[in-house]
Amino acid sequence: VLIDVKLLTLGKVLKTHWYYLYQVEDNTDIIMEGALIARDRVGVQDFVLLDSHTSEAAFLNNLRKRYQENLIYTYIGTLLVSVNPYKELDIYTVTQMQLYRGVNFFELPPHLYAIADNAYRVMCSEYNNHFILISGESGAGKTEASKKILQYYAVTCPTTEQLQVVRDRLLLSNPVLEAFGNAKTLRNDNSSRFGKYMDIQFDFKGAPVGGHILSYLIEKSRVVHQNHGERNFHIFYQLLEGGEKDLLCWLGLERNPQKYAYLVQVSDNLAISLFCAWNSLCRLGRCAKVFSINDKNDWKIVRKAFSIIDFTEKDLEHLFGIVASVLHLGNIQFEEDSNGHAIIRNGTQIKWISKVLSPLNVDLAFYARDAVAKAIYGRTFTWLVNKINGSLANKDSTRKTVIGLLDIYGFEVLDTNSFEQFCINYCNEKLQQLLIEMTLKAEQEEYEMEGIEWEPIPYFNNKIICDLVEQKHKGIISILDEECLRPGEATDLSFLEKLEEKVGDHAHFVTRKLADQKTRKSIDWVDFRLLHYAGEVTYCAVGDFSLMVFQVLCNSKNGIVRDCFLLSELDSRRRPETVATQFKNSLMSLIEILMSKEPSYIRCIKPNENKEPGKFDDCLIRHQVKYLGLMEHLRVRRAGFAYRRKYEHFLRRYKSLCPATWPHWHGPAAEGVERLIKHIGYKPEEYKLGRTKIFIRFPKTLFATEDAFEIRK
Ligand code: ADP
Ligand code: MG
Repeated sequence: VLIDVKLLTLGKVLKTHWYYLYQVEDNTDIIMEGALIARDRVGVQDFVLLDSHTSEAAFLNNLRKRYQENLIYTYIGTLLVSVNPYKELDIYTVTQMQLYRGVNFFELPPHLYAIADNAYRVMCSEYNNHFILISGESGAGKTEASKKILQYYAVTCPTTEQLQVVRDRLLLSNPVLEAFGNAKTLRNDNSSRFGKYMDIQFDFKGAPVGGHILSYLIEKSRVVHQNHGERNFHIFYQLLEGGEKDLLCWLGLERNPQKYAYLVQVSDNLAISLFCAWNSLCRLGRCAKVFSINDKNDWKIVRKAFSIIDFTEKDLEHLFGIVASVLHLGNIQFEEDSNGHAIIRNGTQIKWISKVLSPLNVDLAFYARDAVAKAIYGRTFTWLVNKINGSLANKDSTRKTVIGLLDIYGFEVLDTNSFEQFCINYCNEKLQQLLIEMTLKAEQEEYEMEGIEWEPIPYFNNKIICDLVEQKHKGIISILDEECLRPGEATDLSFLEKLEEKVGDHAHFVTRKLADQKTRKSIDWVDFRLLHYAGEVTYCAVGDFSLMVFQVLCNSKNGIVRDCFLLSELDSRRRPETVATQFKNSLMSLIEILMSKEPSYIRCIKPNENKEPGKFDDCLIRHQVKYLGLMEHLRVRRAGFAYRRKYEHFLRRYKSLCPATWPHWHGPAAEGVERLIKHIGYKPEEYKLGRTKIFIRFPKTLFATEDAFEIRK
């Protein structure tokens, strides 16, 4: 049969949820075919409705079909899977926002707005707190998603003139944080180099009245070094490109980014001067200019944002002063004096630095210089976040509810995985555990509440891996801490030996020291492997030299430097907090924050490595489906019943299928549904009736009902 399947725009189709977006001739046979074809063509909008729900191939197939029809969103129950379209879609208009406002979750095609609206409505009606966890790898669309959700609230929530200010500040905190915390990387031209959790506070009327931001692990190493094809944080280029002449003059800066060692990527200190010379000679932009980024324009946006977020001119003076000083610091060059000690080669005004660093040899002096730059930048970022929080704070003491947005890097496996990846992956491990636990808990609670027998669900509990990392005294982080207590004695190798001694026989831990000794000669090359829930990752145990630097700086003759680099961190009588422990603790408190709230999840997927619209790279996506734990989630979600709906909703939709319920059913909805399904012949093993909902075990039962409904219509 030849059928004309017309795809409609999202805005026009409201009625059907299983294979929305089609319209066929008004002939029942053809409608039937059309439904099948449409389902075949655009897939199902909820993965729980896949027939072979455990098959990864079927999962990918469904995702691919939808992506090719520009349907980038798909549900797994209430979790939203999003695939980056890498092109502007017409689905974020104000009309679209209004369409999703107050509408029942499953009555419209899957969308970010449905997730946002659902959280908001439940918050308003039940007066409880929520969070929306957005995860995925770099470039998958997390930050865009969180911005779109924020915009959704800004547009659709009630507001007053007074509250406009709050609204603007909430929105404008983004460009400021992005200027200081985002950078161009190979994977994303606007990659967030920090994890972000933002609470939006609402008053009892549901109006946004304040906010609070927590930041995690800003990538400080980027300040002093970037990989080929990547950039430093945006703010440096914005300042140079857009900064007013007077400002640059006052800061002693030149416009050309190539003049600054920290902005030309070099991995080798010895090569810095060569590169500087080379770059200024041929004006060869390594990566200062990026096609998709307009630094000059962004500078204006950031300046405007600063003024609205209430930064004073004095604040800004200090802030830009620090940005400039980092650039100046990077240009400091050392050479060797006759004793083999470092002396500063260029610039007389900064001789003091040489005094501080003079006990070091040249290599260590460079290292110390970079450590100082990183520390300054890192602390400034924290200051910035605090300052923004001050401006977002709501001072009145009436009770508020919040929706938290968590935009945090997904599981990361690079060619070399260092401490940063270790932290990121540990974080994902924790969040995955939270997700599984909360989903299981919610399922269990729902079954209990509905009076349906709980069927235990087999799943992989990754608590075992979290324990391996975080357990007191026995976990990897504790071992790392202990090693850090022995400055001077501890080495990468001794750390690894300790690991082997303490966790060597753990099922999820492997060292490669012995296995690969033949292929790698260098003795300091050692690494270990963790079997994460998402797969295996090899980490190299790169030593944390900063301890050594701290030691030197603590003993500096300069009192200010001594104050900045706290002696207490080296005092072995007090337990020092290593970066790993700090991160572990902040993660623990984040988990605590999240546990007290109702969850929603968005999993973002990057479709290809080239930022190309329409290209669906099977291999790359299969990896992410695994790393994001989607199959596991689907399994948990599908273990009992594929589909569940409130009696009222089910009846409202299908009542035309049974003479007893059509056109009106006057008794209780539950009884109506019972009559209805008896009439259409549901078998007892296909469904269960709960207190308020009907639970349907297999998708095909529902599809049959849905098809019958279409024909009837
Ligand atoms: P992440 O935060 O996950 O690293 P981003 O949110 O920064 O990724 O997205 C990377 C880029 O992908 C964006 O700069 C944008 O060009 C594109 N992108 C992401 N989400 C969308 C979307 N929903 N529509 C159009 N383009 C998008
Ligand atoms: Mg991001």
